[in-house]
Amino acid sequence: MPQIVEQLADLTALRDRDSLDTALVETLREFLHLEDIAIYRLISPVNNQHWLTCARLQNGTNKVQSNPEGSELDELPRDSDYPHRQQALNNQEPVIAENSGICVFPLSSRSAAQGVLELESNETMSSETVLLVSAVLRLYQNFQGLLDYGERDALTELLNRKTFDGAFLKATTNRIEAIESDTDDRRHVLSGGGYWLAMLDIDHFKRVNDNFGHLIGDEVLLLLARLMRSTFRFHDQLYRFGGEEFVVLMHCSQNGQAQAAFERLRNNTEQHIFPQVEHITISVGFTEIRLGDTPSGAFERADKAVYYAKEHGRNQVCNYETLIAEGKLAAESANIGDIELF
Ligand code: GH3
Ligand code: MG
Ligand code: MG
Repeated sequence: MPQIVEQLADLTALRDRDSLDTALVETLREFLHLEDIAIYRLISPVNNQHWLTCARLQNGTNKVQSNPEGSELDELPRDSDYPHRQQALNNQEPVIAENSGICVFPLSSRSAAQGVLELESNETMSSETVLLVSAVLRLYQNFQGLLDYGERDALTELLNRKTFDGAFLKATTNRIEAIESDTDDRRHVLSGGGYWLAMLDIDHFKRVNDNFGHLIGDEVLLLLARLMRSTFRFHDQLYRFGGEEFVVLMHCSQNGQAQAAFERLRNNTEQHIFPQVEHITISVGFTEIRLGDTPSGAFERADKAVYYAKEHGRNQVCNYETLIAEGKLAAESANIGDIELF
């Protein structure tokens, strides 16, 4: 027993969610004799949810598996294929499946997607083991709550600025590794997949505050964050950088997917009816993250694209690279230069 305490103490030294999931399944596997242990999370859209494997350790292997970033929804099992998992989530208590040695524990957090911890052993799980796992999960979830407290914006529960640089570095490193390795991933990335950075700014938000007050303004921010969560995929990282400025860091396996996703959010926002305010629109600027990019370099490009969108009618999505290719941004800067000169 003291050993498990030691392992749990190590677990609380981690700051990265993926590593935390991995450490949890490794720790429990070491102390319980299991055939299979895994964390699965439900990913949107809301009415068509699928199970994503976040960390899975099967008997006979020491390698923790997970579904890769950008997994296609259709390739993942459906929510309804696993009634025990649904039952655990609905009742928020462990479910011991009869005669199968499977036990499912619900995982809920205010910020992350709903999920389950699923254990499979050769024998039916004893009530003592269920209590032990439940206690470990309480510790794990409380620790996650503490991480959220430091890394998430209190109003919208989106990530805050603090974690951005680390995530950006991870994205650029993944890209370099994928290009350097001689695997399928290489074809994947070189055939057009990549990471994208978008900045979103609400149009004429000052008017919302002026006409309806700050509280209603805050509610709009909260509802927009919800729209973002339901529009983007599990692996996309959503940030509120302060005020009414939001940032998305996303991975797409195909060209055009990023533009389509941001366009979907723009459209969903335009169509949504917000209490009292009714309609708002957003302007989005986005850019592809390059090899050797810095956060400030990528932000500068996304920012120029947002600025262009604002200057050209708002309520639109602009891609920096397209604007340059079409000569629109260069032409804009030259004009600004001319005005400054004379
Ligand atoms: P534009 O279309 O050019 O973006 O116009 P805008 O009025 O949205 O202008 P800008 O983006 O410069 O203004 C941001 C405004 O957002 C200023 C402030 O009134 C409001 N704001 C910033 N942070 C908050 C917040 O936390 N809550 C609320 N309610 N309002 C905020
Ligand atoms: Mg702004
Ligand atoms: Mg604005």
